[in-house]
Amino acid sequence: MIDDTKPKKRRSLKLKWAFFTSIGVLAIVLGFSLLIFNRFTNVLLQQEQYYITNTMDTVSNRLSNYDSPITEKNVNEDLQPDLRSEKNRDGLVDKKTNQTIYSDSLIVNLSRDSMVVNVFSTNNKKLFQSKAASFRFKPTDKTKIKLIKQDGKQVLRGTKPVLSKKNGSLVGYVQVVDTLDNYHRTVSKLLTIILILIMLAVLITVVLAYLLAFELLKPINQISKTITKIKEEPDSDVRVPEIKTNDELADLGQLFNSMLDQTQRYMNQQSQFVEDVSHELRTPVAVIQGHMDMLLRWGKDDPEVLNESLKASLQETKRMQSLVAEMLDLSRAEQIEINYADEVTNVNEVFDQVNNDFKMIHPEFTFIVDDDTREPISAKIYRNHLEQVLVILIDNAIKYSKDRKEIHTSISTTMNTVNIAVQDFGEGIAPDDVSKVFNRFYRVDKARSRDKGGNGLGLSIAKRLMEAYHGDISIESSLGYGSIFQIKLPIYHQPVEKVADEDDELDSNE
Ligand code: ADP
Repeated sequence: MIDDTKPKKRRSLKLKWAFFTSIGVLAIVLGFSLLIFNRFTNVLLQQEQYYITNTMDTVSNRLSNYDSPITEKNVNEDLQPDLRSEKNRDGLVDKKTNQTIYSDSLIVNLSRDSMVVNVFSTNNKKLFQSKAASFRFKPTDKTKIKLIKQDGKQVLRGTKPVLSKKNGSLVGYVQVVDTLDNYHRTVSKLLTIILILIMLAVLITVVLAYLLAFELLKPINQISKTITKIKEEPDSDVRVPEIKTNDELADLGQLFNSMLDQTQRYMNQQSQFVEDVSHELRTPVAVIQGHMDMLLRWGKDDPEVLNESLKASLQETKRMQSLVAEMLDLSRAEQIEINYADEVTNVNEVFDQVNNDFKMIHPEFTFIVDDDTREPISAKIYRNHLEQVLVILIDNAIKYSKDRKEIHTSISTTMNTVNIAVQDFGEGIAPDDVSKVFNRFYRVDKARSRDKGGNGLGLSIAKRLMEAYHGDISIESSLGYGSIFQIKLPIYHQPVEKVADEDDELDSNE
C-alpha cells in the first residue's frame, strides 16, 4: 500500500525561483549565442570562399592561354618560381618542408598557409601541387565550392574547369582546397568565449535570483511566523511587523493584520455576548430560584405567599422568553443580505399601520403624525423588519416619556432617501450615553429599564437592521426634554416596465 501520510519533500520557493530564472536566462543566452555564432561563422566561411574563388580565378586566368589540354610542362612554366628573380631566390630554398615553391608573386600572396592549389589535366591527372597534400578530385563542368570532410576535418574545396581563352575548349582543372585552419581556430575561440559567458550569466542569475527571492520572501516569512505564533497562542495579540517595502507584500501584511484585528474583535464580541447573556439570565433565574426555595420551605401552605411567588416567577419567565426572542432577532438581523435581498416594501403603508396600532394600544398618548411624501415611497427592506424598527422606536418613546404624553412621528424624503422620525418629550439621553444606547444590553438606567420590560437589545436590533438594508439610524436628544430618533433608507425606484415603453411608442406614432 502507498503511504499517503509520508510528508512531501519541501522545496523552498527561493530555490525554485533561482532554478527557473536561471533556466530562462540559460535558454535566452543560448538562443542569442547560437544566433551570433551562426552569423559569425557564416561570415568567416564567406571570406574563405572569397579567397578560394580569387585564387582559382587567378590560376585559371594564367592557364587559359593554351588552346589544347595543358601538360605538366605548361603548368610548371607558368607556375614554377622564376629562378632568375632576386626576390624569389631566397624563398626557393625551403629545405625543411621540401615543398614546391612557386614563382608567381600573385600566387604566393594568394596561397595562404591553409591553402593548397592543385592543377589537373583533362584526364584527371595531377599536374601541379603547391603543397604535398592530396585531396579528392572530382572533375566538374562549372565552378563549385563545397564544404567536405577529409580525414575527419572540415575543409573547403573549390574546383574550376580551365577553358581556353582562344577556342573555349577545356584545357584542365584547377582545385583550391582551404583547410580552414584559421576558421577552426577562430571558431573554437568563439565557442570558449560563449561557453564562459553562458556559465557566467547562469551563475550570476542563480545568485541574484536567490538573493532577490530571499529579499522578496522576507515579508512572507514574517507573516508565516505570525500565523505560527497565533496558532500556538490563539489569544495572543501578535501582529505582522510593519513591512517597509511599499509593495503588494506590504499590502498583504497590512491586510493580514486587519483581518486578525477583525477576527479578534469578533471573538471579543462573541465572548462579550455570551457573558452579557448569562449575566442577563442570571437575575430572572435567581428570582425564580428564590421563590421556589421559599415555596418549598414554608410557602406551600400560605396561599398569599404561593400566589405572589407564582406571579413573580411567571413574570420572570416572560422576561426570559422576550430576552430569548430578542436575541434571536439580533442574530437573524445579521443574515438579512442573504435571505431578504430582493424584498421591496411600501414605506408609507407600514408607517401608517404602526402609528395606528400604537394609537389603539395607547389611547392615553397623543400621536401627531406628519406625512410629507407626495406619493407612496418604496424601499428595499423586508416589511416585517421595517415594522420591527418602528415598533422599537415608538415603544421606547412611550416607555421613556414622562408627564407629557405626546409622540410626534413624521415621514419625509430627500433626493435619494426616505426619512422617518420619532420624537418624544420624555427623559432624554445624556450626550455620553447617546452613542452607547446602540450597544447590546446597554441601558442608561438598568433598574428602571428592567421595570419597563426592557432588555437593552431593542436599539441594537434596530441599528443592525438599518445597516443591513444600507440605511442609517441617528439620535438627537436633550436630557430632560426628550429625544428624536431618525431612520433613513435609500428610496427604491421601480424599474420602468417594457409595456410602458411600447405605449410611448404608440403615442408618438399617433
Ligand atoms: P430597552 O429594551 O432597555 O429599551 P433599547 O436598546 O431599546 O433597550 O434602549 C437602550 C437604552 O436607551 C434604554 O434602556 C434607554 O435607557 C435608552 N433609550 C432608548 N430610547 C429612549 C428614549 N426614547 N428616550 C430616552 N432614553 C431612551
